[in-house]
Amino acid sequence: MKLPVTCQVMRSFWSMTHRSYSLAVKTKPSVKRKVWQPVIGLEIHVQISSESKIFSRIPTKYGAPPNSQVGVFEAAHPGTLPVLNKKCVEIAVKTALALGCTVNKVSRFDRKHYFYPDLPAGYQITQLDHPIASRGHLEFHVYNSAVHKKPYRHGVDIVQIQLEEDSGKSLHDSENHRCLVDLNRAGQPLMEIVFAPGLHNGEEAAALIKELILILTRLGASNCLMEEGSLRVDANISVHQKGEPFGTRTEVKNLNSIRAVVKAIEFEIERQTEILNSGGRVVNETRSFDADKKETVSMRDKEVVQDYRFMPEPNLPPLRLYDSDEPGYKKIEGSLDIATIRASIPELPDATRERIMTIYKIPLVQAITLTSHEGLLHYFEEVMEDTSRNSTLVCNLLLIDLLALLYEKDLHINVCPITPKVFGEIVDLQQSGTIAHQNTLRLLKELFEGNECSPAEIVEANKWQTISDPDVLEELCNQILSENEKLVKKYHTNSKKKVRVMNNLMAAARVATDGRAKPALVKQIFHRKLEPSKE
Ligand code: ADP
Ligand code: MG
Repeated sequence: MKLPVTCQVMRSFWSMTHRSYSLAVKTKPSVKRKVWQPVIGLEIHVQISSESKIFSRIPTKYGAPPNSQVGVFEAAHPGTLPVLNKKCVEIAVKTALALGCTVNKVSRFDRKHYFYPDLPAGYQITQLDHPIASRGHLEFHVYNSAVHKKPYRHGVDIVQIQLEEDSGKSLHDSENHRCLVDLNRAGQPLMEIVFAPGLHNGEEAAALIKELILILTRLGASNCLMEEGSLRVDANISVHQKGEPFGTRTEVKNLNSIRAVVKAIEFEIERQTEILNSGGRVVNETRSFDADKKETVSMRDKEVVQDYRFMPEPNLPPLRLYDSDEPGYKKIEGSLDIATIRASIPELPDATRERIMTIYKIPLVQAITLTSHEGLLHYFEEVMEDTSRNSTLVCNLLLIDLLALLYEKDLHINVCPITPKVFGEIVDLQQSGTIAHQNTLRLLKELFEGNECSPAEIVEANKWQTISDPDVLEELCNQILSENEKLVKKYHTNSKKKVRVMNNLMAAARVATDGRAKPALVKQIFHRKLEPSKE
Protein backbone atom coordinates (compact mmCIF):
# COMPACT_ATOMS: atom_id res chain seq x y z
CA MET A 1 0.00 0.00 0.00
CA LYS A 2 1.37 3.38 -0.92
CA LEU A 3 1.25 5.87 1.87
CA PRO A 4 1.44 9.64 1.60
CA VAL A 5 4.92 10.75 0.79
CA THR A 6 6.34 13.24 3.21
CA CYS A 7 8.95 15.56 1.85
CA GLN A 8 12.22 15.14 3.61
CA VAL A 9 15.25 17.36 3.49
CA MET A 10 18.13 15.59 5.05
CA ARG A 11 21.47 17.24 5.30
CA SER A 12 23.39 14.63 7.20
CA PHE A 13 26.37 12.96 5.66
CA TRP A 14 26.57 9.29 4.79
CA SER A 15 27.01 7.16 7.81
CA MET A 16 29.78 4.67 8.08
CA THR A 17 28.49 1.22 7.30
CA HIS A 18 29.23 -1.98 9.09
CA ARG A 19 29.12 -5.27 7.26
CA SER A 20 28.37 -7.19 10.40
CA TYR A 21 27.22 -6.32 13.87
CA SER A 22 28.77 -7.92 16.87
CA LEU A 23 26.81 -9.12 19.81
CA ALA A 24 28.48 -7.47 22.76
CA VAL A 25 27.40 -8.89 26.09
CA LYS A 26 28.72 -6.42 28.61
CA THR A 27 27.76 -8.30 31.77
CA LYS A 28 29.18 -11.65 30.66
CA PRO A 29 32.51 -10.95 29.00
CA SER A 30 33.23 -14.66 28.72
CA VAL A 31 30.31 -15.24 26.31
CA LYS A 32 31.58 -15.74 22.76
CA ARG A 33 30.78 -12.73 20.60
CA LYS A 34 28.33 -13.65 17.87
CA VAL A 35 28.22 -11.95 14.52
CA TRP A 36 24.90 -10.94 12.99
CA GLN A 37 24.65 -10.84 9.22
CA PRO A 38 22.22 -8.29 7.86
CA VAL A 39 20.18 -9.06 4.73
CA ILE A 40 18.20 -6.48 2.82
CA GLY A 41 15.69 -6.82 -0.01
CA LEU A 42 14.22 -3.78 -1.77
CA GLU A 43 10.87 -3.22 -3.40
CA ILE A 44 10.99 -0.10 -5.56
CA HIS A 45 8.00 1.75 -6.93
CA VAL A 46 8.80 3.79 -10.00
CA GLN A 47 6.40 6.27 -11.51
CA ILE A 48 6.43 5.75 -15.28
CA SER A 49 6.97 8.87 -17.43
CA SER A 50 3.60 9.15 -19.14
CA GLU A 51 1.38 12.07 -20.01
CA SER A 52 -1.73 10.17 -18.98
CA LYS A 53 -2.77 7.71 -16.30
CA ILE A 54 -2.34 3.97 -16.63
CA PHE A 55 -6.02 3.17 -17.21
CA SER A 56 -7.47 6.46 -18.53
CA ARG A 57 -6.62 9.55 -20.58
CA ILE A 58 -6.52 11.86 -17.55
CA PRO A 59 -3.23 13.86 -17.45
CA THR A 60 -0.58 13.21 -14.82
CA LYS A 61 1.17 16.56 -14.40
CA TYR A 62 3.01 16.82 -11.09
CA GLY A 63 2.03 19.64 -8.75
CA ALA A 64 -1.44 20.34 -10.22
CA PRO A 65 -4.02 21.71 -7.73
CA PRO A 66 -5.53 18.95 -5.55
CA ASN A 67 -8.18 16.82 -7.22
CA SER A 68 -7.81 18.60 -10.58
CA GLN A 69 -6.58 15.45 -12.34
CA VAL A 70 -9.27 12.99 -11.47
CA GLY A 71 -11.52 11.30 -13.99
CA VAL A 72 -14.55 9.14 -13.45
CA PHE A 73 -12.39 6.04 -13.49
CA GLU A 74 -9.97 7.27 -10.80
CA ALA A 75 -12.97 8.33 -8.71
CA ALA A 76 -14.34 4.79 -9.16
CA HIS A 77 -17.71 5.79 -10.55
CA PRO A 78 -19.81 2.69 -11.18
CA GLY A 79 -19.63 1.41 -14.73
CA THR A 80 -16.26 2.99 -15.62
CA LEU A 81 -13.77 0.66 -17.25
CA PRO A 82 -9.95 0.62 -17.37
CA VAL A 83 -8.16 0.94 -20.72
CA LEU A 84 -4.49 -0.01 -20.50
CA ASN A 85 -2.04 2.74 -21.58
CA LYS A 86 0.22 1.26 -24.29
CA LYS A 87 3.10 3.64 -23.57
CA CYS A 88 3.31 2.33 -19.99
CA VAL A 89 3.54 -1.24 -21.25
CA GLU A 90 6.29 -0.24 -23.65
CA ILE A 91 8.29 1.41 -20.86
CA ALA A 92 7.85 -1.56 -18.54
CA VAL A 93 9.10 -3.91 -21.28
CA LYS A 94 12.07 -1.65 -22.01
CA THR A 95 12.97 -1.52 -18.32
CA ALA A 96 12.59 -5.27 -18.00
CA LEU A 97 14.93 -5.90 -20.93
CA ALA A 98 17.51 -3.43 -19.60
CA LEU A 99 17.42 -5.26 -16.26
CA GLY A 100 17.95 -8.64 -17.86
CA CYS A 101 14.44 -9.89 -17.07
CA THR A 102 12.36 -12.33 -19.06
CA VAL A 103 9.41 -10.45 -20.50
CA ASN A 104 6.32 -12.59 -20.12
CA LYS A 105 4.31 -12.94 -23.34
CA VAL A 106 1.14 -13.14 -21.29
CA SER A 107 0.65 -11.20 -18.11
CA ARG A 108 -2.49 -10.56 -16.08
CA PHE A 109 -3.94 -7.94 -13.79
CA ASP A 110 -5.41 -8.53 -10.36
CA ARG A 111 -7.37 -6.58 -7.81
CA LYS A 112 -5.72 -6.12 -4.42
CA HIS A 113 -8.22 -4.94 -1.84
CA TYR A 114 -7.57 -2.35 0.82
CA PHE A 115 -9.91 0.03 2.55
CA TYR A 116 -8.38 3.47 2.61
CA PRO A 117 -9.95 6.82 1.82
CA ASP A 118 -7.39 7.45 -0.94
CA LEU A 119 -8.46 4.33 -2.84
CA PRO A 120 -12.08 4.93 -3.86
CA ALA A 121 -12.56 1.60 -5.66
CA GLY A 122 -11.55 -0.30 -2.53
CA TYR A 123 -8.90 -2.12 -4.54
CA GLN A 124 -5.73 -1.41 -6.49
CA ILE A 125 -5.21 -2.91 -9.95
CA THR A 126 -1.82 -4.61 -9.85
CA GLN A 127 -0.07 -7.78 -10.98
CA LEU A 128 0.80 -10.66 -8.69
CA ASP A 129 1.31 -14.16 -10.04
CA HIS A 130 1.53 -13.21 -13.71
CA PRO A 131 3.65 -10.04 -13.84
CA ILE A 132 4.90 -8.41 -17.02
CA ALA A 133 8.48 -9.56 -16.35
CA SER A 134 10.38 -11.95 -14.09
CA ARG A 135 13.86 -13.12 -13.09
CA GLY A 136 16.34 -10.33 -13.82
CA HIS A 137 19.64 -9.23 -12.37
CA LEU A 138 21.20 -5.86 -11.61
CA GLU A 139 24.96 -5.37 -11.21
CA PHE A 140 26.48 -2.21 -9.81
CA HIS A 141 29.61 -0.76 -8.23
CA VAL A 142 29.49 0.00 -4.52
CA TYR A 143 31.60 3.05 -3.90
CA ASN A 144 31.27 5.89 -1.45
CA SER A 145 34.67 7.52 -1.04
CA ALA A 146 33.85 8.41 2.58
CA VAL A 147 33.44 4.71 3.38
CA HIS A 148 35.23 2.54 0.81
CA LYS A 149 38.89 2.58 -0.24
CA LYS A 150 37.98 1.30 -3.67
CA PRO A 151 34.85 0.24 -5.53
CA TYR A 152 33.59 -3.33 -5.45
CA ARG A 153 31.01 -4.91 -7.69
CA HIS A 154 27.84 -6.42 -6.36
CA GLY A 155 24.79 -7.96 -8.01
CA VAL A 156 21.24 -8.63 -6.89
CA ASP A 157 18.57 -10.75 -8.57
CA ILE A 158 15.26 -9.25 -9.57
CA VAL A 159 12.24 -11.35 -8.69
CA GLN A 160 9.73 -9.55 -10.88
CA ILE A 161 8.48 -6.30 -12.34
CA GLN A 162 4.79 -5.58 -12.09
CA LEU A 163 2.62 -2.88 -13.60
CA GLU A 164 0.13 -1.20 -11.29
CA GLU A 165 -1.78 1.96 -10.51
CA ASP A 166 -0.85 4.36 -7.74
CA SER A 167 -3.31 5.34 -5.01
CA GLY A 168 -4.35 8.86 -4.09
CA LYS A 169 -2.88 10.72 -1.12
CA SER A 170 -4.36 11.23 2.32
CA LEU A 171 -3.30 14.53 3.83
CA HIS A 172 -3.52 14.74 7.58
CA ASP A 173 -4.64 18.13 8.86
CA SER A 174 -3.81 17.71 12.53
CA GLU A 175 -4.88 21.26 13.46
CA ASN A 176 -8.46 20.69 12.41
CA HIS A 177 -8.45 16.96 13.16
CA ARG A 178 -9.40 15.90 9.70
CA CYS A 179 -8.03 13.91 6.83
CA LEU A 180 -8.14 15.35 3.32
CA VAL A 181 -7.91 13.27 0.19
CA ASP A 182 -6.15 14.27 -3.04
CA LEU A 183 -6.82 11.85 -5.88
CA ASN A 184 -4.40 13.41 -8.40
CA ARG A 185 -1.98 10.57 -7.87
CA ALA A 186 -4.68 7.88 -8.17
CA GLY A 187 -4.13 5.89 -11.34
CA GLN A 188 -0.62 7.19 -11.96
CA PRO A 189 1.29 4.44 -13.74
CA LEU A 190 3.78 2.56 -11.58
CA MET A 191 6.27 -0.24 -12.04
CA GLU A 192 7.10 -2.15 -8.91
CA ILE A 193 10.51 -3.77 -9.11
CA VAL A 194 10.93 -6.52 -6.53
CA PHE A 195 14.53 -7.42 -5.67
CA ALA A 196 15.65 -10.64 -4.01
CA PRO A 197 17.20 -10.32 -0.54
CA GLY A 198 20.85 -9.84 -1.53
CA LEU A 199 22.18 -6.64 0.04
CA HIS A 200 24.19 -6.40 3.24
CA ASN A 201 24.11 -2.76 4.30
CA GLY A 202 22.81 0.71 3.53
CA GLU A 203 25.65 1.61 1.18
CA GLU A 204 24.90 -1.36 -1.06
CA ALA A 205 21.25 -0.34 -1.13
CA ALA A 206 22.25 3.22 -2.04
CA ALA A 207 24.49 1.95 -4.84
CA LEU A 208 21.71 -0.24 -6.23
CA ILE A 209 19.23 2.64 -6.24
CA LYS A 210 21.73 5.00 -7.89
CA GLU A 211 22.43 2.51 -10.67
CA LEU A 212 18.71 1.86 -11.15
CA ILE A 213 18.08 5.61 -11.40
CA LEU A 214 20.84 5.94 -14.01
CA ILE A 215 19.32 3.14 -16.07
CA LEU A 216 15.73 4.35 -15.79
CA THR A 217 16.55 7.95 -16.66
CA ARG A 218 18.67 6.84 -19.60
CA LEU A 219 15.73 4.76 -20.86
CA GLY A 220 13.39 7.73 -20.37
CA ALA A 221 11.31 5.38 -18.23
CA SER A 222 10.91 7.75 -15.29
CA ASN A 223 12.27 11.04 -14.02
CA CYS A 224 13.10 9.17 -10.78
CA LEU A 225 12.73 12.34 -8.70
CA MET A 226 12.62 10.85 -5.23
CA GLU A 227 11.69 14.22 -3.70
CA GLU A 228 8.54 14.24 -5.84
CA GLY A 229 7.74 10.64 -4.96
CA SER A 230 8.50 9.39 -8.49
CA LEU A 231 10.70 6.69 -7.00
CA ARG A 232 9.90 5.25 -3.58
CA VAL A 233 11.69 2.50 -1.80
CA ASP A 234 10.43 -0.10 0.66
CA ALA A 235 13.36 -1.74 2.45
CA ASN A 236 13.00 -5.20 3.98
CA ILE A 237 15.62 -5.81 6.63
CA SER A 238 16.58 -8.82 8.73
CA VAL A 239 19.63 -10.14 10.57
CA HIS A 240 20.67 -13.75 11.09
CA GLN A 241 23.60 -15.90 12.14
CA LYS A 242 25.99 -17.12 9.50
CA GLY A 243 24.86 -20.47 8.14
CA GLU A 244 21.37 -20.08 9.63
CA PRO A 245 18.17 -19.25 7.69
CA PHE A 246 17.30 -15.57 7.24
CA GLY A 247 15.81 -13.88 10.28
CA THR A 248 12.40 -12.28 10.67
CA ARG A 249 12.29 -9.12 8.61
CA THR A 250 10.74 -5.74 9.08
CA GLU A 251 9.65 -3.57 6.18
CA VAL A 252 10.38 0.16 6.20
CA LYS A 253 7.92 1.81 3.82
CA ASN A 254 8.07 4.76 1.46
CA LEU A 255 11.66 5.93 1.76
CA ASN A 256 11.95 8.92 -0.52
CA SER A 257 15.61 9.85 -0.50
CA ILE A 258 18.75 7.77 -0.82
CA ARG A 259 19.99 9.08 2.51
CA ALA A 260 16.75 8.02 4.15
CA VAL A 261 17.26 4.51 2.74
CA VAL A 262 20.80 4.33 4.14
CA LYS A 263 19.83 5.71 7.54
CA ALA A 264 16.70 3.57 7.87
CA ILE A 265 18.63 0.39 7.04
CA GLU A 266 21.48 1.22 9.42
CA PHE A 267 19.00 2.04 12.17
CA GLU A 268 17.00 -1.16 11.65
CA ILE A 269 20.12 -3.35 11.69
CA GLU A 270 21.20 -1.76 14.99
CA ARG A 271 17.70 -2.03 16.45
CA GLN A 272 17.23 -5.68 15.50
CA THR A 273 20.74 -6.54 16.69
CA GLU A 274 20.02 -4.96 20.04
CA ILE A 275 16.71 -6.80 20.43
CA LEU A 276 18.34 -10.16 19.70
CA ASN A 277 21.29 -9.20 21.83
CA SER A 278 19.05 -8.82 24.84
CA GLY A 279 17.26 -12.09 24.23
CA GLY A 280 14.22 -10.57 22.50
CA ARG A 281 12.51 -11.42 19.22
CA VAL A 282 12.14 -9.29 16.11
CA VAL A 283 8.49 -8.72 15.23
CA ASN A 284 7.43 -8.99 11.60
CA GLU A 285 6.04 -5.51 11.07
CA THR A 286 5.74 -2.52 8.80
CA ARG A 287 7.67 0.53 9.96
CA SER A 288 8.05 4.08 8.75
CA PHE A 289 11.11 6.28 8.86
CA ASP A 290 11.20 9.52 10.83
CA ALA A 291 13.66 11.66 8.89
CA ASP A 292 14.14 14.18 11.70
CA LYS A 293 14.91 11.64 14.42
CA LYS A 294 16.60 9.31 11.93
CA GLU A 295 14.80 6.31 13.35
CA THR A 296 12.14 3.87 12.26
CA VAL A 297 8.80 3.62 14.05
CA SER A 298 6.24 0.85 14.04
CA MET A 299 3.18 1.36 11.83
CA ARG A 300 1.40 -1.99 11.98
CA ASP A 301 2.42 -5.53 12.69
CA LYS A 302 2.24 -8.24 10.07
CA GLU A 303 2.15 -11.19 12.44
CA VAL A 304 -1.36 -11.95 11.24
CA VAL A 305 -1.19 -12.13 7.47
CA GLN A 306 -3.43 -9.48 5.94
CA ASP A 307 -5.96 -10.83 3.44
CA TYR A 308 -5.93 -8.63 0.36
CA ARG A 309 -8.60 -10.79 -1.30
CA PHE A 310 -6.62 -10.94 -4.54
CA MET A 311 -8.82 -11.73 -7.52
CA PRO A 312 -8.40 -11.41 -11.29
CA GLU A 313 -9.34 -8.00 -12.69
CA PRO A 314 -12.38 -8.89 -14.82
CA ASN A 315 -12.33 -5.70 -16.89
CA LEU A 316 -8.86 -6.13 -18.38
CA PRO A 317 -8.01 -8.97 -20.77
CA PRO A 318 -4.65 -10.73 -20.39
CA LEU A 319 -1.83 -8.56 -21.75
CA ARG A 320 -0.31 -10.37 -24.73
CA LEU A 321 3.00 -9.42 -26.38
CA TYR A 322 5.04 -11.01 -29.17
CA ASP A 323 8.73 -11.09 -30.08
CA SER A 324 9.65 -10.95 -33.77
CA ASP A 325 13.23 -11.95 -32.87
CA GLU A 326 11.93 -15.43 -32.04
CA PRO A 327 11.61 -18.01 -34.82
CA GLY A 328 8.02 -18.84 -35.70
CA TYR A 329 6.59 -15.86 -33.79
CA LYS A 330 2.97 -14.84 -34.36
CA LYS A 331 2.21 -11.15 -34.75
CA ILE A 332 -0.63 -9.92 -32.57
CA GLU A 333 -2.60 -7.02 -34.08
CA GLY A 334 -2.62 -3.93 -31.87
CA SER A 335 -0.01 -5.45 -29.53
CA LEU A 336 3.66 -4.60 -28.96
CA ASP A 337 6.68 -6.31 -30.50
CA ILE A 338 9.33 -6.97 -27.83
CA ALA A 339 12.03 -7.04 -30.54
CA THR A 340 11.28 -3.44 -31.58
CA ILE A 341 11.57 -2.31 -27.96
CA ARG A 342 14.80 -4.31 -27.52
CA ALA A 343 16.32 -2.52 -30.53
CA SER A 344 15.51 0.87 -29.02
CA ILE A 345 17.52 0.38 -25.82
CA PRO A 346 20.37 2.92 -25.63
CA GLU A 347 23.84 2.30 -24.22
CA LEU A 348 23.45 1.48 -20.52
CA PRO A 349 25.68 2.94 -17.77
CA ASP A 350 27.80 -0.20 -17.37
CA ALA A 351 28.63 -0.19 -21.07
CA THR A 352 29.35 3.54 -20.92
CA ARG A 353 31.84 3.03 -18.09
CA GLU A 354 33.59 0.29 -20.05
CA ARG A 355 33.67 2.47 -23.15
CA ILE A 356 35.08 5.59 -21.52
CA MET A 357 37.66 3.59 -19.58
CA THR A 358 38.89 2.09 -22.85
CA ILE A 359 38.74 5.19 -25.03
CA TYR A 360 40.08 7.74 -22.55
CA LYS A 361 42.25 5.38 -20.47
CA ILE A 362 40.77 6.54 -17.19
CA PRO A 363 40.47 4.50 -13.98
CA LEU A 364 37.20 2.96 -12.75
CA VAL A 365 36.67 5.49 -9.95
CA GLN A 366 36.68 8.36 -12.45
CA ALA A 367 34.44 6.43 -14.84
CA ILE A 368 32.00 5.87 -11.97
CA THR A 369 31.95 9.58 -11.12
CA LEU A 370 31.60 10.64 -14.74
CA THR A 371 28.62 8.33 -15.33
CA SER A 372 27.01 9.23 -12.02
CA HIS A 373 25.27 12.04 -13.81
CA GLU A 374 24.22 12.24 -17.44
CA GLY A 375 25.13 15.95 -17.60
CA LEU A 376 28.64 15.34 -16.30
CA LEU A 377 29.33 12.67 -18.90
CA HIS A 378 28.10 14.90 -21.74
CA TYR A 379 30.25 17.75 -20.46
CA PHE A 380 33.31 15.51 -20.33
CA GLU A 381 32.70 14.03 -23.78
CA GLU A 382 32.21 17.46 -25.27
CA VAL A 383 35.55 18.63 -23.85
CA MET A 384 37.22 15.44 -25.09
CA GLU A 385 35.94 15.98 -28.64
CA ASP A 386 39.35 17.61 -29.13
CA THR A 387 41.30 14.38 -29.02
CA SER A 388 44.61 16.12 -28.31
CA ARG A 389 43.42 16.84 -24.78
CA ASN A 390 44.89 14.85 -21.94
CA SER A 391 42.02 12.89 -20.36
CA THR A 392 43.70 12.69 -16.94
CA LEU A 393 44.11 16.45 -16.81
CA VAL A 394 40.51 16.98 -18.00
CA CYS A 395 39.21 14.53 -15.38
CA ASN A 396 41.18 16.17 -12.58
CA LEU A 397 40.12 19.70 -13.47
CA LEU A 398 36.52 18.65 -14.02
CA LEU A 399 35.96 16.17 -11.19
CA ILE A 400 37.98 17.92 -8.51
CA ASP A 401 38.20 21.63 -9.26
CA LEU A 402 35.10 22.45 -11.29
CA LEU A 403 32.86 20.18 -9.21
CA ALA A 404 34.16 21.86 -6.05
CA LEU A 405 33.10 25.26 -7.42
CA LEU A 406 29.68 23.91 -8.41
CA TYR A 407 29.25 22.24 -5.03
CA GLU A 408 30.09 25.46 -3.21
CA LYS A 409 27.33 27.31 -5.07
CA ASP A 410 24.97 24.32 -4.96
CA LEU A 411 24.80 24.36 -8.75
CA HIS A 412 24.17 21.55 -11.18
CA ILE A 413 26.62 20.81 -14.00
CA ASN A 414 23.78 21.47 -16.47
CA VAL A 415 23.77 25.15 -15.46
CA CYS A 416 27.53 25.51 -15.07
CA PRO A 417 28.58 29.09 -15.95
CA ILE A 418 31.63 27.72 -17.78
CA THR A 419 30.69 26.01 -21.03
CA PRO A 420 32.53 22.84 -22.13
CA LYS A 421 34.09 24.90 -24.95
CA VAL A 422 35.60 27.47 -22.56
CA PHE A 423 36.57 24.71 -20.12
CA GLY A 424 38.47 23.06 -22.99
CA GLU A 425 40.39 26.31 -23.57
CA ILE A 426 41.37 26.38 -19.90
CA VAL A 427 42.60 22.80 -20.15
CA ASP A 428 44.65 23.72 -23.22
CA LEU A 429 46.33 26.60 -21.39
CA GLN A 430 47.53 24.30 -18.63
CA GLN A 431 48.33 21.38 -20.93
CA SER A 432 50.51 23.56 -23.15
CA GLY A 433 52.40 24.86 -20.11
CA THR A 434 51.14 28.43 -20.59
CA ILE A 435 49.79 28.46 -17.05
CA ALA A 436 50.55 26.39 -13.97
CA HIS A 437 47.83 24.61 -11.97
CA GLN A 438 47.65 27.31 -9.32
CA ASN A 439 46.70 29.86 -11.95
CA THR A 440 44.35 27.42 -13.69
CA LEU A 441 42.38 27.44 -10.46
CA ARG A 442 42.29 31.24 -10.40
CA LEU A 443 41.21 31.26 -14.03
CA LEU A 444 38.44 28.75 -13.35
CA LYS A 445 37.20 30.86 -10.45
CA GLU A 446 37.31 34.07 -12.46
CA LEU A 447 35.28 32.54 -15.32
CA PHE A 448 32.95 30.79 -12.91
CA GLU A 449 32.14 34.12 -11.30
CA GLY A 450 31.11 35.57 -14.62
CA ASN A 451 34.18 37.19 -16.24
CA GLU A 452 33.16 37.36 -19.88
CA CYS A 453 36.64 37.64 -21.41
CA SER A 454 38.24 34.59 -22.99
CA PRO A 455 40.56 32.45 -20.83
CA ALA A 456 43.58 33.63 -22.85
CA GLU A 457 42.62 37.29 -22.34
CA ILE A 458 42.23 36.82 -18.60
CA VAL A 459 45.63 35.13 -18.38
CA GLU A 460 47.20 37.97 -20.36
CA ALA A 461 45.52 40.72 -18.33
CA ASN A 462 46.66 39.19 -15.03
CA LYS A 463 50.11 38.15 -16.25
CA TRP A 464 49.44 34.58 -15.17
CA GLN A 465 51.65 33.02 -17.83
CA THR A 466 54.22 30.58 -16.60
CA ILE A 467 57.78 31.90 -16.46
CA SER A 468 59.98 29.55 -18.42
CA ASP A 469 62.79 31.92 -19.47
CA PRO A 470 65.97 30.09 -18.22
CA ASP A 471 67.80 33.30 -17.34
CA VAL A 472 64.92 34.65 -15.25
CA LEU A 473 64.53 31.33 -13.45
CA GLU A 474 68.29 31.03 -12.87
CA GLU A 475 68.31 34.39 -11.16
CA LEU A 476 65.23 33.46 -9.12
CA CYS A 477 66.86 30.23 -7.90
CA ASN A 478 70.11 31.99 -7.05
CA GLN A 479 68.25 34.49 -4.95
CA ILE A 480 66.21 31.83 -3.12
CA LEU A 481 69.34 29.80 -2.37
CA SER A 482 71.21 32.82 -1.04
CA GLU A 483 68.29 33.74 1.20
CA ASN A 484 67.99 30.20 2.57
CA GLU A 485 71.51 29.26 3.62
CA LYS A 486 70.27 27.16 6.52
CA LEU A 487 68.11 25.04 4.25
CA VAL A 488 70.96 24.50 1.85
CA LYS A 489 73.20 23.42 4.72
CA LYS A 490 70.56 20.96 5.87
CA TYR A 491 70.38 19.57 2.34
CA HIS A 492 74.06 18.80 2.32
CA THR A 493 74.35 17.48 5.87
CA ASN A 494 71.21 15.40 6.26
CA SER A 495 70.47 13.12 3.30
CA LYS A 496 67.10 12.09 4.77
CA LYS A 497 65.89 15.69 4.61
CA LYS A 498 66.77 16.26 0.94
CA VAL A 499 63.23 15.79 -0.37
CA ARG A 500 61.74 18.06 2.25
CA VAL A 501 64.32 20.78 1.61
CA MET A 502 63.66 20.60 -2.11
CA ASN A 503 59.92 20.95 -1.47
CA ASN A 504 60.57 23.99 0.71
CA LEU A 505 62.71 25.60 -1.98
CA MET A 506 60.08 24.87 -4.63
CA ALA A 507 57.43 26.43 -2.40
CA ALA A 508 59.58 29.53 -2.03
CA ALA A 509 59.87 29.80 -5.81
CA ARG A 510 56.10 29.44 -6.10
CA VAL A 511 55.46 32.17 -3.55
CA ALA A 512 58.05 34.52 -5.05
CA THR A 513 56.48 34.28 -8.52
CA ASP A 514 52.88 33.95 -7.50
CA GLY A 515 52.79 30.44 -8.88
CA ARG A 516 54.15 31.37 -12.29
CA ALA A 517 57.60 29.77 -12.26
CA LYS A 518 57.53 26.57 -14.30
CA PRO A 519 58.00 23.89 -11.62
CA ALA A 520 59.89 21.35 -13.75
CA LEU A 521 62.49 23.92 -14.82
CA VAL A 522 62.89 25.36 -11.32
CA LYS A 523 63.46 21.90 -9.92
CA GLN A 524 66.10 21.19 -12.57
CA ILE A 525 67.96 24.38 -11.71
CA PHE A 526 67.86 23.76 -7.95
CA HIS A 527 69.07 20.24 -8.53
CA ARG A 528 71.94 21.38 -10.74
CA LYS A 529 73.00 23.94 -8.17
CA LEU A 530 72.73 21.64 -5.16
CA GLU A 531 74.24 18.57 -6.78
CA PRO A 532 76.72 19.90 -9.33
CA SER A 533 78.60 16.59 -9.37
CA LYS A 534 75.48 14.69 -10.56
CA GLU A 535 74.88 16.92 -13.57
P1 ADP B 1 5.77 -10.75 0.62
O1 ADP B 1 5.07 -11.94 0.06
O2 ADP B 1 5.51 -10.49 2.05
O3 ADP B 1 5.63 -9.54 -0.24
P2 ADP B 1 8.23 -11.43 -0.65
O4 ADP B 1 8.80 -12.78 -0.54
O5 ADP B 1 7.50 -11.08 -1.90
O6 ADP B 1 7.31 -11.16 0.60
O7 ADP B 1 9.42 -10.41 -0.42
C1 ADP B 1 9.18 -9.05 -0.40
C2 ADP B 1 10.51 -8.36 -0.27
O8 ADP B 1 11.12 -8.69 0.96
C3 ADP B 1 11.52 -8.69 -1.35
O9 ADP B 1 12.13 -7.51 -1.80
C4 ADP B 1 12.50 -9.60 -0.66
O10 ADP B 1 13.81 -9.40 -1.17
C5 ADP B 1 12.44 -9.12 0.77
N1 ADP B 1 12.72 -10.16 1.77
C6 ADP B 1 12.11 -11.36 1.88
N2 ADP B 1 12.59 -12.02 2.94
C7 ADP B 1 13.53 -11.25 3.53
C8 ADP B 1 14.39 -11.37 4.68
N3 ADP B 1 14.36 -12.42 5.47
N4 ADP B 1 15.24 -10.34 4.95
C9 ADP B 1 15.27 -9.26 4.19
N5 ADP B 1 14.49 -9.08 3.11
C10 ADP B 1 13.62 -10.06 2.78
MG1 MG C 1 5.76 -9.43 -2.30
